[in-house]
Amino acid sequence: MDICDIRKILAVIGLSAFVVSSNTFAQASSQFSPLTAKRCDQLLEKDVITNKNPVPCRRLSQVNFDYMSEGGVIKTDGELVVLDVLAPKVSALFHELLKNGFVIEKAHPIEEYSGDDKKSMANNNSSAFNGRAITGGSRWSMHAYGAAIDINPVQNPFIDISDDGTANIRPAKSSHYAVNRLKYRPNTKQRPGMAEEVVNLFAENGFFIWGGFWNYPIDYQHFQVGPRSFVELLVSLDYEKGETILNKTINTYKECREVNADMHNEDKLLSVCIASTIDSMPTK
Ligand SMILES: [Zn+2]
Repeated sequence: MDICDIRKILAVIGLSAFVVSSNTFAQASSQFSPLTAKRCDQLLEKDVITNKNPVPCRRLSQVNFDYMSEGGVIKTDGELVVLDVLAPKVSALFHELLKNGFVIEKAHPIEEYSGDDKKSMANNNSSAFNGRAITGGSRWSMHAYGAAIDINPVQNPFIDISDDGTANIRPAKSSHYAVNRLKYRPNTKQRPGMAEEVVNLFAENGFFIWGGFWNYPIDYQHFQVGPRSFVELLVSLDYEKGETILNKTINTYKECREVNADMHNEDKLLSVCIASTIDSMPTK
């Protein structure tokens, strides 16, 4: 039995690599397992995945996790579907988000919304896999590879800006709530669940590109592993090779932060280390 077999068995019985490595079985708040054939059939039926999808359903895993909702209530029904090699990272990420008290409104499978991203966003639902094209385009979205996560869409809207300066803010609920991104404002309550708070945590777990860095569209809710070329490389490799490359990339990011720890400016540190990590990524 090699390490791969052990990992598969642990995944089936619901223990994440994170939990195993840190010996905190009793505190497991997050676990992952491959999608079953039955679940894949259901996704096909609901058109959330098609036979043309860039990643076959057998390469997808579900991550189930506890999370803190507003008011400090712990909910246990969190679920995201991601590329198999990302599942241990996503499991560890959501364990960390819970530990840090990061508020998540809800995270239900996208098939509850029949794959309709607008409905999921309007319901402030966090999601990952969705076999769809990019918003406003025809190329596959990073969500179709299971390599992107949208977090708290109402706190973190998608803002499309056209040439004439018109901004389209989705979901609409965000427009008078979350376009101003300042954390501290006089006589104004802080807003929990803003993506800015967790950019480093996402990067430490393999999600290096944040849509909040873009000029347009600005996609505050969106985190993805890397550029399309890197994601396509991950998908083309078997689990072990993909995991090795992913771990190497995460180490590059962590080492950069250590080397530049005296920068004393978190925004600058994030920017420098994410840029150098993306530059170091191998491509297909
Ligand atoms: Zn997204």
